[in-house]
Amino acid sequence: MSFDYDLFVIGGGSGGVRAARIAAAEHGARVALAEEYRMGGTCVIRGCVPKKLMVYASGMPGAVEEARAYGWDAQIGGFDWTAFRAKLDAELTRLEKIYRAGQQNAGVTVYDQRATVAGPHEVRLADGQVVTTKHILVATGGRPFVPDFPGREHVLTSNEIFQLPELPKRLLIVGGGYIACEFAGIMAGLGVQVTQINRSALLRGFDAECRDLIVAQMQAHGIAIHTGIVIDRIEKTDAGLKIHGSDLRDDTFDAVLYATGRVPYTEGLGLAEAGVELAENGAVKVDDWSQTNIPSIYAVGDVTDRIQLTPVAIREGHAFADTVFGAMPRKVDHDLVASAVFTQPEFGTVGLSEEAARERGPIEVYVSAFRPMRSSFAGADDRVLMKLVVCKETQRVLGCHIVAPDAGEMIQMVAIAIKMGATKAQFDATCAVHPTMAEELVTMRKPVRHA
Ligand code: NDP
Repeated sequence: MSFDYDLFVIGGGSGGVRAARIAAAEHGARVALAEEYRMGGTCVIRGCVPKKLMVYASGMPGAVEEARAYGWDAQIGGFDWTAFRAKLDAELTRLEKIYRAGQQNAGVTVYDQRATVAGPHEVRLADGQVVTTKHILVATGGRPFVPDFPGREHVLTSNEIFQLPELPKRLLIVGGGYIACEFAGIMAGLGVQVTQINRSALLRGFDAECRDLIVAQMQAHGIAIHTGIVIDRIEKTDAGLKIHGSDLRDDTFDAVLYATGRVPYTEGLGLAEAGVELAENGAVKVDDWSQTNIPSIYAVGDVTDRIQLTPVAIREGHAFADTVFGAMPRKVDHDLVASAVFTQPEFGTVGLSEEAARERGPIEVYVSAFRPMRSSFAGADDRVLMKLVVCKETQRVLGCHIVAPDAGEMIQMVAIAIKMGATKAQFDATCAVHPTMAEELVTMRKPVRHA
């Protein structure tokens, strides 16, 4: 049987565009890709990229304050959100064009419309066209999840936060994960009065010692944090959005941002009808090769709910294309994936937390906590923490956790050593780079505790 395409990719985000480009340009497949919104997906359009630019914007007042401490006669004026937002949008449009050109140059046919699965070898486009394809790749990503409660229609999610007509004066952020903590820092840095609440501790699941330091520093930067709080109802009043069900002293806000997780975006995609097995939360169930129970249908990225990170989706998309079209069978290794939370201070982490490692056997814990030279000179109270979790028996470094400016940059390097199985002695055999913060990683001589 002949098909219109060898591969039809649904979703133009990180995983989808990589798979389409590699399959077409490197392995000669006839590929089409459909995207219903903007090319680039969550990472480029309403995630990592605009978020990081906002992190930079929000750090400027601190930088100017620091400049004064270093002898500069520097002053900062007000923040022009409208001007910043216009520039941000222009940058996203530029990046979107690059993504589109990448597909076109690779010979991928791009459909700017929604596509759904009509069968194991058929895709239906929003304009009614049905195309046939040997393989389908589902790469539709995730969507913000907001729990069900009266008044949920009044809240914002990370989809809307970059498009606000103006910044709120008082913002409530609900959630304690990556997005909630990152936006708490961003908005506070931009001058917004931020309150953050969560039903449990912030950054649950991360190393507790690091988490505690980050929370303390967030509070020191003016963010009001309350845990153990659940909202029953939100009411729109003349004074703003009034929160019911919590015991917050100030319970009325100009805006409420929910960052309570993301769920796979499979609604209405025709997957269940085509016989594709889905998990309870809608995630596409796949094996190690990203293949579903229907042999011609594969899925990569957030829609599979493995690890919700861009570089993971990119790897999954690339491995899929090499396996299916390049005769180079490759599975993605999901172990020891490093990540950074762009809180202020930043948090870089790879491997096991102290708590998780302790469950597996005896460990040694090395910690260096200090005031970094740069902020100490400026008279600021910022603290840095470097931590290694080491297996007592093998002396392998099981985890590294860094709370510091540019921790994301540092953890990328440490992740190489840890992925190679480096031992504590090998860290110690590496000569320090002086004067840096990261030199502490190779100069921690004695464990602070055994557990
Ligand atoms: P997370 O899973 O990180 O955090 C969700 C938070 O919402 C948790 O604090 C959770 O509390 C709380 N929560 C979940 N369900 C409810 C509920 N029904 N009611 C009240 N609170 C609830 O999700 P995010 O939305 O922050 O981010 C989604 C994913 O995107 C992340 O897991 C990450 O993989 C990715 N991401 C990565 C970034 C990076 O690499 N820097 C940046 C942004 C996102 P509890 O702890 O009690 O479960």
